[in-house]
Amino acid sequence: MPEGPEIHRAADQIAKAIVGHKAEHVHFGLPALHPWESELTGSKVVAVEAHGKAILTRFDAGVAVYSHNQLYGKWYVRGAGLYPKTGRSLRMEIRTAAKSALLYSASEIEVLRPEDEPHHPYLLKLGPDALDGNVDEARVVQQMEDKRFAGRNLGGLLLDQSFVSGLGNYLRTEILWWAGLHPSWRPKDLEPAERSDLAYWILDVTRQSYATGGLTDCPARVATAKAAGVPRRRYRHAAFARADLPCPECRTKIEKIEVGSRRLYLCEKCQPPRNTAPKGSSKTPRATAQR
Ligand SMILES: [Zn+2]
Repeated sequence: MPEGPEIHRAADQIAKAIVGHKAEHVHFGLPALHPWESELTGSKVVAVEAHGKAILTRFDAGVAVYSHNQLYGKWYVRGAGLYPKTGRSLRMEIRTAAKSALLYSASEIEVLRPEDEPHHPYLLKLGPDALDGNVDEARVVQQMEDKRFAGRNLGGLLLDQSFVSGLGNYLRTEILWWAGLHPSWRPKDLEPAERSDLAYWILDVTRQSYATGGLTDCPARVATAKAAGVPRRRYRHAAFARADLPCPECRTKIEKIEVGSRRLYLCEKCQPPRNTAPKGSSKTPRATAQR
């Protein structure tokens, strides 16, 4: 499933193509939405925004189209009236004079009036977005100290969109590796400085991934690997999808485990389980020294 950085990049691409332009043709695949087609046609697209893993396409008619890709949804931008070669089914088309934004296979599409938005069940539960520039470390620490989240394992917490939105499975592995934390730790087990450190990595790893198109290892190692002709899947992440390869930090073999029925990769040496190592192991200096 695409995570926050991929959704935000998709939203940027769609925005670049259609924001500020009049929708000359609007089509929905779901029959229940057909009445909206004529209402939105002729209306100007004023914004395309990512919210967690959902996208809101706003029209100057005052309504927004909410879409969530779930596992299979995919956006395409094409010249006006052109379509990609795909076996997928078209769920939404917004065509301006120059470009078409096309959404395929997504099953969750709704048209929201302004009064619906504050009550939308997905939007309502979203925590602060890691890619929102107004969200800082202090805000993320505040979430960790909230009683809803303080006693939960990081392995589960980092996938909960109400804790911090936009995180997903590869980001979970990478954030924990960078922070030097095993997924069994809970925010309440950590010292205040460790909570700040984890908040730093939550924002930094996610923002780096957005800025680089999905790279979460440090830029220096990525550059060295690229120059040596290493394939992208091998240097993209520090730990994710690198089972049995050496930890970039200590050369211990990366292990693959399951947490919350999703795969997670870790280095047992850099990320000792809760209660097996004294707090404040080498993680903070290791991580910050490298970036
Ligand atoms: Zn290691």
